[in-house]
Amino acid sequence: MQKTFLDLVEDVHTPGRCNHCGGCVSFCSAINYGALDLDHTGQPFISDREKCIECGLCYSVCPQTRELDGDIQKHCEWKEPYGRVIQTAITHACNEDIRASGTDGGVVTAVLTHLLTTGRINGAIVSKQTGHGRVPCVAKTKQEILDSAGSHFGASHGMIRFASEYSTFSPTITALGELRYNPLDRLAFVGTPCQIASVRKMQALGIVPSDAIHVCLGLFCSGNFHFTEPWFKSLEKDYDFDHRFIEKINIKEQFAFFLSDGRVVKVPIDRFDPVRRPACGFCTDFSAAFADISFGGLGAEEGWTTAVIRTPLGKELFDHALAHALVPYRYADNPRYISQAEEKIYTATAHKKAMAEKNSLSIH
Ligand SMILES: Cc1cc2nc3c(=O)[nH]c(=O)nc-3n(C[C@H](O)[C@H](O)[C@H](O)COP(=O)(O)OP(=O)(O)OC[C@H]3O[C@@H](n4cnc5c(N)ncnc54)[C@H](O)[C@@H]3O)c2cc1C
Ligand code: SF4
Ligand code: SF4
Ligand code: SF4
Repeated sequence: MQKTFLDLVEDVHTPGRCNHCGGCVSFCSAINYGALDLDHTGQPFISDREKCIECGLCYSVCPQTRELDGDIQKHCEWKEPYGRVIQTAITHACNEDIRASGTDGGVVTAVLTHLLTTGRINGAIVSKQTGHGRVPCVAKTKQEILDSAGSHFGASHGMIRFASEYSTFSPTITALGELRYNPLDRLAFVGTPCQIASVRKMQALGIVPSDAIHVCLGLFCSGNFHFTEPWFKSLEKDYDFDHRFIEKINIKEQFAFFLSDGRVVKVPIDRFDPVRRPACGFCTDFSAAFADISFGGLGAEEGWTTAVIRTPLGKELFDHALAHALVPYRYADNPRYISQAEEKIYTATAHKKAMAEKNSLSIH
């Protein structure tokens, strides 16, 4: 029998595995009739049971169910320990402004703007910073892509932002819904590993408009975090800083807060367990194994981005960007640089898998 949203509630929501990606709501066959909706926290719920046609799509596209895992693994030629790897490269953007605004080396932004200006894509699904967190959007111009770079916050937003509550999460998948009213047909999609897996599942099922996604750019991911004032207070005591002056956040081996006075406060990632979204505790994909290219700061020094090129399409696009928009790291300075980066990705993946296994055992 076809699994429906009620099974999704039982298998994913009740054990706390829903990562609020929004995939089920965005692609519900009865979305125009109002079968599903999202509450203010991003949690999907059935708003009108009568409207559900029991097609099972919501269950199939959910990245937290195991449905279609075999299909997307086969399609992406997935292999142990962290997916297919054609090449690992460490680069940063040629353009100084992009480097300055990027989270790490500004490589995602440099690749996107290069693909857009050379006509290889006609838009990109990204996430832009607002005073209240990140919001998904379909960027159609170079400026809109540039505006989505980095994890900086304007000084005027600083206090408001962290004074109450702030989440690193951005339900990028929901921007796909916008494509129903948008004729763009060659898009790049930027997202966390779970979001990339959801897109791949939609593509495996041939769900419109996932066919408009030409290339998937994944981000390494240790989790999404929901910061609250009381939690920050305890961290401030231990690390002697004021969260109202955070200008940029970044996650690599450690969580780093860049402060307006130039100080960088580094905190072990495990310290963030209490504010990690519960669903992330069950996630096993660190390096976006189903992307065409995955990006992260891990393995690269400050101001550089590690890229794992996974598919022939990813390789072709990356090589083109490398020739025009990226600068390679001086590998001659350390010939082991790439293998050291790969070891770090391996270790982060193993850590994530062990945490997911432990958490899964604890709910059974
Ligand atoms: C939630 C999260 C956790 C991460 N954890 C790690 C980690 O543990 N280790 C690690 O090495 N790297 C991690 N990264 C990736 C890292 O932060 C950088 O995004 C990556 O290194 C690319 O840097 P860049 O300078 O090339 O990207 P930029 O040029 O700055 O571009 C960043 C792109 O990411 C998109 N983006 C930003 N935030 C989100 C979001 N919340 N959801 C979807 N898209 C978003 C933007 O739209 C932009 O297109 C994480 C990213 C996110 C979003
Ligand atoms: S109509 Fe289909 S996709 Fe929508 S809630 Fe029902 S089973 Fe899920
Ligand atoms: S993880 Fe995404 S697709 Fe699955 S139930 Fe939650 S919002 Fe829906
Ligand atoms: S850890 Fe990252 S990829 Fe995994 S569920 Fe959380 S946000 Fe998604």
